[in-house]
Amino acid sequence: MMIESIGVVLLGLVLGSFLNVVIHRLPLEESIVHPGSRCPSCKEAIRWYHNVPVLGYLMLRGRCAGCGIRISPRYPLVELLTAFLFWGSYLGLPGDWIQAVNQFRVWIFILIGIAVTFIDLDHRIIPHTLSFGGWGVGLLTCFSDFRHGPWELVAASVAGFGFFFLFGLLYEKVTGRVGLGGGDVNFMGTIGIFLGFGGIWSAILISSITGSLVGLAMAAWSKRQGAAGGDSEGVLRTQIPYGPFLVFGALVELFFGVSAWIGL
Ligand SMILES: [Zn+2]
Repeated sequence: MMIESIGVVLLGLVLGSFLNVVIHRLPLEESIVHPGSRCPSCKEAIRWYHNVPVLGYLMLRGRCAGCGIRISPRYPLVELLTAFLFWGSYLGLPGDWIQAVNQFRVWIFILIGIAVTFIDLDHRIIPHTLSFGGWGVGLLTCFSDFRHGPWELVAASVAGFGFFFLFGLLYEKVTGRVGLGGGDVNFMGTIGIFLGFGGIWSAILISSITGSLVGLAMAAWSKRQGAAGGDSEGVLRTQIPYGPFLVFGALVELFFGVSAWIGL
């Protein structure tokens, strides 16, 4: 059991390191396999032993070996987060191949969720590659989900997408502002195909609560900073990416099945 857990954590660390590359390069439409990692500042190639997840960062004390510029602590954090979520969602050695597919399915959703979170934070977009690619994997692995039937998952996916699409349209009509980006709408379809109606409800409910709280906190904070006059509220509204909150809601459902608690 101990050996298994160590293996799962190491897998999470390695894939987390790969996610850092995806998060950095996918929105820039660069290849995620070539060339190898370079310092964004001095372009020096990063030595393989400095590329070891978490340890490389500690060895370098958070600075580039070439030019000494600070490396964001987000790199080791993404690696640790991936490892932690992999470990937390590890179902045990697969009894049969269907269970193995289900583990793969859960881990793929976690990887997509982390990538969506940080790309949306950086660029305010959710790349179609992640939403549609994830949707494809979710559809192909539907049969391994022991909590939902395949038809429920497909129906939830269509419903989540459709609801957000209509809500976004309505919001725009009423307020004259774009409330939901197309990326958020597509990503709801991905949540549905992986987590069913429970995932849709939890994602909507938890993201709107946490999103509002963070929005209020940021508004209060920017007021205290004496942000220059004008429509600071409107600026804030567009500045808060919604993707990370959707991912948070979906992960809470994945780990704790909250929708079942409240009878949804
Ligand atoms: Zn450098």
